[in-house]
Amino acid sequence: MNRAAAALALAVCVTSSSVPTAENAHALQRAGREAYLMGTRARLAAYAADRRAGLTTLEAALEVLEATEAQLSTWRADSAISRFNQTSVGTPWQADPPLCRMLGALYEWHAATGGAFDPAIGALTAVWDIHGDGRIPSRQEVDSARRRAGLQQIAFDDRGCTLTRRANVTLDVGAFGKGEALDRVLAALGRAPWMIDFGGQVTVGGPKPDRQPWPVAIAHPLDRDRPYLEVGLTTGSLSTSGSSERDLLVDGERVGHILDPRTGRPARFAGSVTVWHERGLVADILSTALYVMGPEDGMAWADERGLSVCYLVPVEDGTVRVLATDAFRRLM
Ligand code: AMP
Ligand code: MG
Repeated sequence: MNRAAAALALAVCVTSSSVPTAENAHALQRAGREAYLMGTRARLAAYAADRRAGLTTLEAALEVLEATEAQLSTWRADSAISRFNQTSVGTPWQADPPLCRMLGALYEWHAATGGAFDPAIGALTAVWDIHGDGRIPSRQEVDSARRRAGLQQIAFDDRGCTLTRRANVTLDVGAFGKGEALDRVLAALGRAPWMIDFGGQVTVGGPKPDRQPWPVAIAHPLDRDRPYLEVGLTTGSLSTSGSSERDLLVDGERVGHILDPRTGRPARFAGSVTVWHERGLVADILSTALYVMGPEDGMAWADERGLSVCYLVPVEDGTVRVLATDAFRRLM
């Protein structure tokens, strides 16, 4: 069996495997909510003794998501990150303890991915108008934006929890904000039967009451509305970065929303990559970084580190190649 067939067979057997049913599972009721947050739709579900208790849980989850958005979102001029982006060069900016922990992870993964993940690319996302309608900048504009991008231009003092801009660089939270928000929900709700599907990223608090995994569909790499693989989640977070998600068309030319910080241009891969990690923040960061690396470099990089990764690569004949690491197969 080749790699693709093995991964597919595995995904199929996950969904059809039977797990013992907990005796009291039928007594719990499922509650659901939907909300629009961080520019995307969130779908929440939880099991509890009655529907009202379930909705109270989901209300608590929504409050955490909203508070995280208020702190991180660059759409809001008064968020902590927006205020940081406006501090004058050379002036230290104080982060609170949760932000400080998050910043530590951003620096760690920026280094570990060789700069494929770089949250300090605000100048580049602006010049390509990634958060608007998209545009094709001139080479001079790209070069100028590259000089105003890069995490190495922001000094991080992890003891004092301060960030200091060394140049006019800004943070873009697009690649990690949702993952961070989901981790904060897990910290608040603890391990219990709940699930949040946050536009491309799913986190669960534990298995469903009958101990079954939550089924999660991974979309076809060229059509986000078409489920392609189904896997089951009992813990942790599953994040997908894909070109069909949010890419823009400018005068018939595709402008990918994931940029390669090393070239200052949209990453060239045109499929999707899904990462499972216990930490939502890390799954989010890594799906973006592995998209930038592309399947060849990315599979080798992920395999070396025992990471749980699955690329869906569209092939010219219309089929899809599935490339999954051993860790992805074992886990799912
Ligand atoms: P995701 O959909 O999680 O892969 O995140 C994509 C978003 O992250 C983009 O819309 C940008 O806001 C931002 N972004 C794009 N390229 C990068 C990159 N190489 N490193 C960090 N953030 C990025
Ligand atoms: Mg991401």
